[in-house]
Order: sequence, then C-alpha cells, then structure tokens
Amino acid sequence: MSDTHRLPRLFGTTYPVVQAGMIWCSGWRLAAAVSKAGGLGIIGSGSMYPEVLLEHIRKYKAATDRPFAVNVPMLYPDVEAHMETILAEGVPIIFTSAGNPTTWTPKLKAAGRTVVHVVSSVKFAERAEAAGVDAVVAEGFEAGGHNGREETTTMVLIPMVRKAVSIPVIAAGGIADGKAMLAAMALGADGVQIGSRFVCAEESSAHNAFKQHVVEAREGATVLTLKELAPVRLMRNPFFDQVQRAYADCASVDRLKEVLGRARAKRGMFEGDLEEGELEIGQVSGAIDRIQPAAEILEEVMAEYRSGLDRLRTLPRYD
Ligand code: NDP
Ligand code: NDP
Repeated sequence: MSDTHRLPRLFGTTYPVVQAGMIWCSGWRLAAAVSKAGGLGIIGSGSMYPEVLLEHIRKYKAATDRPFAVNVPMLYPDVEAHMETILAEGVPIIFTSAGNPTTWTPKLKAAGRTVVHVVSSVKFAERAEAAGVDAVVAEGFEAGGHNGREETTTMVLIPMVRKAVSIPVIAAGGIADGKAMLAAMALGADGVQIGSRFVCAEESSAHNAFKQHVVEAREGATVLTLKELAPVRLMRNPFFDQVQRAYADCASVDRLKEVLGRARAKRGMFEGDLEEGELEIGQVSGAIDRIQPAAEILEEVMAEYRSGLDRLRTLPRYD
C-alpha cells in the first residue's frame, strides 16, 4: 500500500492502467495501441483458435516492443495449446481468469513470467495469492462479460480484497474514466483495469455496429444473466428476450444451453448481429459516448485522474 508505483514497476508500464482482455474485442491492434500509450495492453485469447493467437502475438511484437499480456480464460477448451504458444513466444505477462489459478501459476512462474489472476470475491483473491500470482484483478458486479456469482460490487469488493491480500490489487468493473480510477485507488487498489471503454476504441476488433450500440446505450441497458451456465453481463436485445422467455417457462439448464447455442458472442460482438448475438458489455456502457483512439482514451483517463486528485485536495478535512 505504501508503494504507489508497484504496479507500473511490475508491468514495466508508465501508468497503472490495464486494458481488459475481452473476447472478440481485444486483438493485437488494441493491445499495441494501449501499450504504446503507456498502459498495459492485453490480447484476449478466449475467442482465438491457437493459430490465431500465435498470429496476434507475432503481429503485436512487430508493432511494438512495449510489455503486453495475454488473457487466458481457464474454461477455454484448448488452454494447453495457448500456454504452449505463450511460453514459446516469450509473452511476459499472463492474466488467467474464469478458473483455478493453481493449475498454471507454478509453471508460468517457473518460466519467469508475471502472472495475474482475475477474481470476483475475497475467497478467490486469497486462493490466487496462495497460488503464487503476482497480482489480482478484483472485478465487481458492474463488469461486462463473465462475472462472479456473488454480485459483489466494485465499491464493496476492493476494500475487502485489499484487506485480505498483500499483493497488488487491480480494480475492475464500472471503471471507464479517471474519476472512477481515482475512487478505486482511494479504496485501496494499486491500479485499474478498463474494459467497456476500450471496446469502443477505434483499434478494438469489435464490429462497428456493436461499438455504435454501446455508445448509444443508456443506464439500465445491461443485465447479469445465465447464472446457471456461467454468469454473464450483456445488453438487453432480442436474444436476451429469448433467454427471459426460457426463464419464464422454468427452463432447465439443458434448455438454457440450447437457447444460448454456439458462437453467440462472436455473432454479436464480432459480426455485428445486434438482434441474435450476445452483446457482452459492462454497466458503465451507459456513460460511454464516443468511439475514439485508444491513446486518446488513456490520455483522457489520466487527465481526469489528475484533475480529480487536485479536487480532492480542496475537500474539507472536518478536523
Ligand atoms: P486482419 O488485418 O488480418 O484482417 C481482418 C480479417 O478479419 C480479415 O481476414 C477478415 O476476413 C476477417 N474478418 C472480418 N470480419 C469478420 C467477421 N465478421 N467474421 C470473421 N472474420 C472476419 O486482422 P487482424 O490482424 O486484426 O487479425 C488477424 C486474425 O485474427 C483475423 O483472422 C481476424 O479475423 C482474427 N481476429 C480474431 C479475434 C478474436 O478475438 N478471435 C479478434 C481480432 C481478430 P475477410 O477478409 O475474409 O472478410
Ligand atoms: P461458444 O462455445 O458459444 O463458442 C465457441 C466460440 O469460441 C466460437 O465462436 C469459436 O469460434 C471460438 N473458439 C476459439 N477457439 C476455440 C476452440 N479452440 N474451440 C472451440 N471454439 C473456439 O463459446 P463463447 O463464445 O461463449 O465463449 C468462447 C470463449 O470465450 C470461451 O472459451 C470462454 O473461455 C471465453 N469467454 C470469456 C469471457 C470473459 O469475460 N473472460 C466471456 C465469455 C466467454 P468459431 O465460431 O470461429 O468456431
């Protein structure tokens, strides 16, 4: 806690800001743009076949020599193949998520890599620290995509995780500007992870129709659903209405799986089918109002952080 620079030092970045690994949205282009601007760019490998991940790592390395990470959701069907690529290609930082950190952390640490695990509860933060990770991302209920079952909000989660572990804590969920970043740091975080706002970066590989839809979204546009399968926050749309109808009919888990079908996320986020696709995004989409270059997003976030810090200094102390 006393060392406020430990996250940039751990990652070799200028700022304690991480761009989330997001299926269908964060390929090499977005990761490179964020890293070049001083944050940590992440390639989200959950939607990539092994040869696609290799292509993205190589394209990233050709674009910049700044540090970067690959996010591997542990429920990905082909984790071994991804880890082989990651080890062979010298990826310096690995973010693991949606699964058990004890499986891969020792092997990655033995290979000299920095490992971060994404958690949504105090219990899993403690387990991740015990598994030997270098930092945790503590992600609250507001976040888009895969989410915790406990519904703990970022505001509640961060102070509890801060108290429970001594490794750096990266706050995530509901953070899209510098004021929220400052708030997360006031709660004890060492830095932040930003997802939804980077979906709307020009360099994001999300379909333009999806980006535009996020820009137009207002408060209340997203909902957490499908807890019986894997809880996910997505936008209300005709596909979500089908899910709701299934719930109204007291659908079994198998029926819910049938309604979900396959490759819905790709259809919505990558192919731009706003009706039939699954549109994963955070609550904070309601506050995002334009598509802009990733570097500009990062500059704005840091400028807001600095002006917010100045404003805090003017608040009364109530001594
Ligand atoms: P490239 O510069 O190689 O060009 C974009 C490629 O994406 C084109 O080959 C295009 O295929 C393909 N593409 C565009 N829209 C779609 C779509 N709706 N469905 C399927 N394919 C589409 O891209 P990158 O260097 O950015 O990416 C390299 C590879 O990684 C590409 O194959 C890309 O599809 C994939 N990718 C995967 C991501 C993921 O999360 N899985 C994220 C980003 C990219 P065509 O010319 O035939 O239309
Ligand atoms: P589905 O089972 O509905 O479909 C699989 C999708 O993943 C397809 O679009 C497929 O592409 C693509 N894919 C990439 N690599 C593989 C592979 N080795 N085997 C099979 N399919 C592959 O899954 P979802 O779209 O719901 O989720 C895909 C992955 O993304 C999951 O593995 C999960 O780990 C991850 N995920 C992570 C989230 C997060 O927040 N971190 C949120 C949601 C999912 P194609 O259509 O071209 O065959």
